[in-house]
Amino acid sequence: MNLTGLTRAQLQAVLADSGAVAPSMARMRAGQAWGWMHKHGVTDFAPMTNIAKEARAALAERFVLNRPEVVERQESSDGVVKWLIRFAPGIEAETVFIPDVGRSGALCVSSQVGCTLNCTFCHTGTQALVRNLTAGEIVAQVQVARDDLGEWMTDPGARRLTNIVFMGMGEPLYNLDGVADALDIISDNEGIAISRRRITVSTSGVVPRIRALGERTSAMLAISLHATNDELRDELVPLNRKYPIAELLAAIRDYPGLSNARRVTFEYVMLKGVNDSPAEARALVRLLAGIPAKINLIPFNPWPGSPYECSSGRTIETFADIVNRAGYASPIRRPRGRDILAACGQLKSESEKVRASARRAQVDVP
Ligand code: SAH
Ligand code: SF4
Repeated sequence: MNLTGLTRAQLQAVLADSGAVAPSMARMRAGQAWGWMHKHGVTDFAPMTNIAKEARAALAERFVLNRPEVVERQESSDGVVKWLIRFAPGIEAETVFIPDVGRSGALCVSSQVGCTLNCTFCHTGTQALVRNLTAGEIVAQVQVARDDLGEWMTDPGARRLTNIVFMGMGEPLYNLDGVADALDIISDNEGIAISRRRITVSTSGVVPRIRALGERTSAMLAISLHATNDELRDELVPLNRKYPIAELLAAIRDYPGLSNARRVTFEYVMLKGVNDSPAEARALVRLLAGIPAKINLIPFNPWPGSPYECSSGRTIETFADIVNRAGYASPIRRPRGRDILAACGQLKSESEKVRASARRAQVDVP
């Protein structure tokens, strides 16, 4: 068992049961090991000098702290880094570091290998779901990035990785348990300590899980909207047939902690001639009335065989102006890492699905 992906409570329970440390010492040892793993980023027990040598040896007999294998590392001409990580044989997902986003730089993590949803503009959507990633596998993506960036034990002000976005492969709300545990680990003050206000979870609109996301994680919410009427959204984001726009907006209004200081981000991919007219920009403004929001316009990123084109720069600016004049921040997301297929919606791995019965047992669909 790898200890680096356990929550504090799990770690303490596992140590208490392990026989490697006296049960009465489990709490203290868990705290010590936690600091080594999540502050120092160690990958074996040898450096844990405040734990007795015998106890360290006993731990090393039973547990590991190693990272998953990085199968491929690519760096884009604009500084974006993409890692293809193999968590287990046939279980691979991508993670992307984007410098100069948020306070300093954002890591885009995957929550699933593949996706059960089939948004028509998304490359990941063409890959069948293989399985949910565990909390440990989500945390491992942050650890791999911090290893690579040399960020363990750095001064918070000197960090390059300051924000996390759950915008990689998969639908995070179909893996809420894994995502919530991973958030507990990543945000822990005596560890990686990335504040929950700097962690954003993006969903295509799994309405019955939105409130629970807020209650369990206090993460910032992002919604992949992409259309202003059900007819078009049914086509682009097929999940809309199950949870139409009106229900989605009601769930968003109900998101815990929503305020002007904690706005929801609406993502809107700009598809040429599909959803990019000035009339749709005005419809968007009407739809979001009263919701503390900002609107992130994402130029469509093409992928091999993709059925859309990106709107022109001019069309995107006109759209942004209309939204902006209505009082919403409407940043246009600069495409990053396109040359290495690391931009939004371009991620995909070669991992293939297992038997449907095994998949059903692993995935948690409301
Ligand atoms: N499954 C979640 C999170 C991952 S996708 C979700 O859908 O929200 C992260 C963002 O990239 C989403 O807003 C998604 O709609 C958008 N996206 C997907 N494919 C894209 C593409 N080809 N070009 C631009 N954005 C895309
Ligand atoms: Fe899945 Fe999100 Fe891609 Fe839709 S946009 S297919 S929900 S990863």
